[in-house]
Amino acid sequence: MPPPSLRLLFPHSSPLSKSSFLGYSLSRSLFCIPRSPITPRSPLTALCYFGARRRRATGGGGGGSGRKTSGGRGTRGGGVFHQRRRASTLREERDRARAPEMEGKEETLGFNKRRAEGRDKSDKPKALQLKTRKLNPVNTICYVQILGTGMDTQDTSPSVLLFFDKQRFIFNAGEGLQRFCTEHKIKLSKIDHIFLTRVCSETAGGLPGLLLTLAGIGEEGMSVNIWGPSDLNYLVDAMRSFIPNAAMVHAHSFGVTVNGDGTMLSSSQFGKFRDPITIIDDEVVCISSIPLNPSYSNGSTLKPGDIAVIYACELPEIKGKFDPVKAAALGLKPGPKYRELQLGNSVMSDRLNITVHPSDVLGPSSPGPIILLVDCPTKFHMTALLSAESLNCYYRDSDHQPKANTKTVNCVIHLGPAIVTKSADYQKWMKRFGTAQHIMAGHEIRNIEIPILKSSARISSQLNYLCPQLFPACGCWSSQQINELSLESNELCEDSSSTPCEIIQAENLLKFHLRPYSQLGLDRSAIPDSLNHEEVIAHLLSEIPEIADVSKNVNQFQRSSAEVKLSKSEKDDNCNMVEEPWLSASSSVNNVHAEKQGRDSFEEDIPCLNDRWNDNLKDEHDIPACLENISREDMEIVLLGTGSSQPSKYRNVSSIFVNLFSRGSLLLDCGEGTLGQLKRRFGIKGADDAVKGLKCIWVSHIHADHHTGLARILALRCQLLKDIPHKPLLVIGPRPLKRFIDAYSKLEDLDMQFLDCRHTLEASMDDFHGSLDSRGQFPENSDRGGSEAEDIASHRVESSLFAPHSKMQSYWKRPGSPVDTAIALPVLMRLKELLSEAGLEFLYSVPVVHCPQAFGVVLKAAERPNSLGKTIPGWKLVYSGDTRPCQALINASRDATLLIHEATFEDTMEDEAIARNHSTTKEAVGVGTSAGAYRVVLTHFSQRYPKIPVFNEADMQRTCIAFDLMTVNLADLPMLPKFLPYLKVLFRNEMVGDESDDVHESFIY
Ligand SMILES: [Zn+2]
Ligand SMILES: [Zn+2]
Repeated sequence: MPPPSLRLLFPHSSPLSKSSFLGYSLSRSLFCIPRSPITPRSPLTALCYFGARRRRATGGGGGGSGRKTSGGRGTRGGGVFHQRRRASTLREERDRARAPEMEGKEETLGFNKRRAEGRDKSDKPKALQLKTRKLNPVNTICYVQILGTGMDTQDTSPSVLLFFDKQRFIFNAGEGLQRFCTEHKIKLSKIDHIFLTRVCSETAGGLPGLLLTLAGIGEEGMSVNIWGPSDLNYLVDAMRSFIPNAAMVHAHSFGVTVNGDGTMLSSSQFGKFRDPITIIDDEVVCISSIPLNPSYSNGSTLKPGDIAVIYACELPEIKGKFDPVKAAALGLKPGPKYRELQLGNSVMSDRLNITVHPSDVLGPSSPGPIILLVDCPTKFHMTALLSAESLNCYYRDSDHQPKANTKTVNCVIHLGPAIVTKSADYQKWMKRFGTAQHIMAGHEIRNIEIPILKSSARISSQLNYLCPQLFPACGCWSSQQINELSLESNELCEDSSSTPCEIIQAENLLKFHLRPYSQLGLDRSAIPDSLNHEEVIAHLLSEIPEIADVSKNVNQFQRSSAEVKLSKSEKDDNCNMVEEPWLSASSSVNNVHAEKQGRDSFEEDIPCLNDRWNDNLKDEHDIPACLENISREDMEIVLLGTGSSQPSKYRNVSSIFVNLFSRGSLLLDCGEGTLGQLKRRFGIKGADDAVKGLKCIWVSHIHADHHTGLARILALRCQLLKDIPHKPLLVIGPRPLKRFIDAYSKLEDLDMQFLDCRHTLEASMDDFHGSLDSRGQFPENSDRGGSEAEDIASHRVESSLFAPHSKMQSYWKRPGSPVDTAIALPVLMRLKELLSEAGLEFLYSVPVVHCPQAFGVVLKAAERPNSLGKTIPGWKLVYSGDTRPCQALINASRDATLLIHEATFEDTMEDEAIARNHSTTKEAVGVGTSAGAYRVVLTHFSQRYPKIPVFNEADMQRTCIAFDLMTVNLADLPMLPKFLPYLKVLFRNEMVGDESDDVHESFIY
């Protein structure tokens, strides 16, 4: 039997070597020829931003400083955005800026070689200082506020903000917190401390992205203190795989440490385990934590991630009013001594030889307000909760504490799920706090009709009105969904006896004031109204009246296209061409146009409603055989996130859901908030089904905007399939991702199998298939388990080639070596099985030019019957990941049915694109043209284009721009480019960027 593949699988020659381009001339500068695009170097590329940021500062600033200047840069065709953005900030500074980036002759090759090879992080890391603030305990304003992340989509735990005018604390940082803060104008730069009530993806999924964003703010960068139970160490360890700068993570854990085997160690930091543990104790607040360990009835030991924490926030007592008459009588002059007395310090009298004490001049003080944050995630934590001695001082009915010493809790925020908080024991426990206000903030079944991210929900609503085919109604806020869920939420509490507790359901931005004392209590004034689709559309029609015609037009041409397709296919099965309805004299476009003659002439501004647009439509290509009468249940992609760098108001970060309907689904990239976006598209339950149906997740590279949503998806899948037999989910990604997942798995069960992208290069896959026997089996694998086969394969390679412990042996064992490949064989077998279940012929990763170990991906479907039962060839889908235009990807995209290509920058920002190894719009379109791709969708837009990127319409013959939640069904591909001019109408008033949309141009993407 032949041994498994022994070929060295690194490409020997550059994958970017030149070849003929198909009918499109691209300048040499578009292409890059690195010596070795996949250097097995340190994966810690994140630091590359330091150079980039500095460069931007030299080049005239990013962000939006020049946004309002009128560039006067007309765009051909559209003309809608001509006043909108400044020209490239870097252009004038090109020579100066390029010098350190482009080494020698690479300067002309159009990519940043240092960055592509991971060498550009030699710039000195920033100091990332923590903030120090002058506190003002007198006249402090203070409140707690519910930051309702996940309250509409139920994908994460809401956060709670503890606000002081000089200090901010946030409890929990689930996915989407950053995006939430941008939307609601909560300044992340003002946050001093983040506390976690548990350490898991539900409560901490937003942390990595948040830390990276903070590090990108200002010249020096910022950081924040993170506090959590000892499990926090696992998270910090995992984050190190992509946040290499230790200065960015100021993490502090407390309480007992749980080993992987369930044994406990005392935390070294706090010495002997004390309860409660005081974390913050300054002039304005004392925050302490009370950890809750679950006790399992079946005797299971404690696992990492099990500890939950109660946080108690106590404000200092409120001093009585200062009496100036008394002060004068004691010989004091108005001045700094007044303040000292108010702060609680004694002073010498100015006129008399006496010491004046605060009690001499202040009225009686009252106790400071107290709030508790309680996260009791399971019934197993109840025993610890009910018996926690540190809580005794807060109980009104305590037997252990004389009543006089009882502290009065003003507000308790409950983060546990309803299944716990509605139990009789919990309800009884709640009553022990007397008159405290209880806020139930478990992230379930509430506020479902009020989207937390209103701005993007509004745009989704508008896009749905304009073009429901590409933008189906949002899954989350449909009335059916709301009805279903509210039925569930109305289950009665176990303890149905009337309760004296003041209970209120948390709502987004609900406040409870603690200071000034006169305002103590709830404040609902900031709670947003519900978003009503009809109102959004009414408002849109008042702003852009002609949108009604555009919408009618889109819908008509969609309908007539479907009808023509149908009648055509009945007549002639062999004909690939579909007669385009809009070319006939009776086409809807012409009709609408004719109707409009003589009325307000806005046609000039709306290309899709004028004659020139009709000419434009005549360029329709042949429809490829793989799309002939294709069923609508074949394949559909949903662009879950279309922005780069960090989640913003209108665009989430990268993720593409590939829906294969009955054959399951795939995710290509999985940025933060992927789960939330799935919920927005498919609804709460629909998203759960989508997660259950995943065959595989493919991740392009290690930048945080492409993978930080992975843990949440994997953790949820585990939970959903807990009682159902299933196999681990296959995650294909760059090798550095494995380090993250391995470290993270110690904290939370992810139940996945990893496959290095390099094992899925075309050459590797060919070798793998070549090593299979005639039955398509791995020869050694036929009667043995996977791991045994692994051992045999790697042992055979090793023992046949090298002396034990020799230098060569360890060299041979490095990542990507044949031994490594042999270990991957069982996983490749699994991939083969999954692909065949999904109706796919192959999946290849393609090395691209961005950072070390960055890849694109090609998916090819197997032959299949179309809606008429005829066998048609399979479609081919290519996704670029992040990259400069790159020959390897062009080759891989040859005759693709659909190419999804990044287009981070507009055409005038080529220099920036080169410096950061991204593509401009024109370059991305050029790759599609060179490869002969049938359709191109552009995505990964810089967040400097909040709503719609800048592009040249003349380039868009086969191309469409992606928007978040855009859904592209294969059956709609022929029409896809036609939609773009209609969609543009929606943004015609966006001439100048809204200042409030500004985002920090972050660093890693
Ligand atoms: Zn990116
Ligand atoms: Zn990137």
